[in-house]
Amino acid sequence: MRGIVTKSTGSWYSVRLENGTDLECRVKGKFRLKGYKLTNPLAVGDKVLVKIDELDENIGQIIELEQRQNYIVRKSVHARKHSLIASNIDQALLIVTLGYPRTSTGFIDRFIASAERFNIPTVLVFNKMDQYGPESMKTLIELENLYGNIGYKTMKISALNGDGIEELKSLMKSKNSLVSGHSGVGKSTLVNGLIPDLDLYTQEVTDYGKGQHTTTHAQCYELDFGGWIIDTPGIKEFGLVDILVEDLDKYFVEIYKYKAACKYNNCIHYNEPAGSCAVKLAFAEGKIASSRYENYLKLVEEIKDFKPYL
Ligand code: GDP
Ligand code: ZN
Repeated sequence: MRGIVTKSTGSWYSVRLENGTDLECRVKGKFRLKGYKLTNPLAVGDKVLVKIDELDENIGQIIELEQRQNYIVRKSVHARKHSLIASNIDQALLIVTLGYPRTSTGFIDRFIASAERFNIPTVLVFNKMDQYGPESMKTLIELENLYGNIGYKTMKISALNGDGIEELKSLMKSKNSLVSGHSGVGKSTLVNGLIPDLDLYTQEVTDYGKGQHTTTHAQCYELDFGGWIIDTPGIKEFGLVDILVEDLDKYFVEIYKYKAACKYNNCIHYNEPAGSCAVKLAFAEGKIASSRYENYLKLVEEIKDFKPYL
């Protein structure tokens, strides 16, 4: 039978089968991911083939894995290993607020780049619209234009009063969505609104905040209108895992467009002379937003001495 992994706890995986029932499964055989030594062979979102145990129909064995569309890995606390966090993610919904708390463009750009690195498109979801006065609305329109022009979808919602939620639902329909954002932006309020009988989510997030759990496993929840929410409590921002400085520009799509015209093909648009760098020129001509280029440079500073292990 086919199914999707909805929870992973050590060596057991919960699989939601096509017929809607859940089965606790163990892994049979070896599943590898090229280029990584993994602590866990499978993750939430994996599409698998299971065989019901011959002796106990309440448990199963995962015998096959469908090819992953994408996946998120993170450096594990175990030296030289990676943890597989989730897979088959259609989009990351980054919940953003302009006040209480304020989400900076630095955070947004870091998130978008990390998601791009895993081939996950980001949708910026501006929450708490009910709170915004004229000043915030002005900032919001600027941000919508900035990210819209680069090619990212933006949405405006109020998780509290339901504004924009129908539109968000149609965007989420039949897709696997990762919901992320700073603590306090309204993720639990949103998810509880989308899945009314799910008290669990708030509970887990609260527990995590209190530090009662040191590791919290990813989980995914089915939406009654079709699709899934992937919840990864441990990774509010999923970090620039293993991004080499010479690859960073790939994940700033509008910056990358100019790279081919840089004099040096290994240009990182940082310390190179201005005359040789097409990105610097484009920036000077106002073709690249200053916040984007500045945030790019900050990330270059952060990762330039970083040498990944393989
Ligand atoms: P999380 O940490 O991202 O899960 O955020 P929560 O869902 O716990 O929300 C944090 C606070 O923001 C709570 O007091 C919510 O009631 C409030 N909140 C969430 N969404 C909205 C909204 O759309 N408008 C307003 N005014 N408050 C909201
Ligand atoms: Zn350059």
